[in-house]
Amino acid sequence: MGGDEPSRDWSRTPELWAAPLTIGVVSDTHMYPEPHGRSLPQLLLDELVKAGLGLILHAGDIFAPWVLDQLGEIAPVLAVIGNGDNAEMRRILPRSRVVLVGDHHIGLVHGHEGPGRNTPERARRAFAENPYVRCVVFGHSHQPLSRLQDGTILFNPGSPTDKRRAPYYSFGVLRVGATIEPELVYFL
Ligand SMILES: [Zn+2]
Repeated sequence: MGGDEPSRDWSRTPELWAAPLTIGVVSDTHMYPEPHGRSLPQLLLDELVKAGLGLILHAGDIFAPWVLDQLGEIAPVLAVIGNGDNAEMRRILPRSRVVLVGDHHIGLVHGHEGPGRNTPERARRAFAENPYVRCVVFGHSHQPLSRLQDGTILFNPGSPTDKRRAPYYSFGVLRVGATIEPELVYFL
């Protein structure tokens, strides 16, 4: 409890959305107190606003609950927990979820758990039981990825705040209509 609690009830965001829908995708915000303070990068926020989003997905390792509030000012947010998220976050968010946008079932998971040799494989396998999931959004590796594999889109937006070995900070946009058009957006 206390000041770090997010102000909204995130369990009440619907999982059913009408297409066409433009979705912002963010992961691994890892908001350490320094150097970012208590705000996501302004450039990220500006770009998300410009994209005209109807929904934002956060693939985990959120770290600070206020990140969800800040994103929630732009569009409704659906999120899952990552391995780094604390007990408070685990109480309010699931480990994985399926978001239905029009006819598209989009799986959202952090990607650190379960069998698989690497993060994309673990993320894909998290929805192995659900043949309708043809787009899996994940994070964890901080390595942006947009790949069509056996008819399934594997999409990792990277991190907008902690790029590690990646050359750029990044986030993603999914334009969902009859098809899903994924786009990675890079910035320095
Ligand atoms: Zn992680």
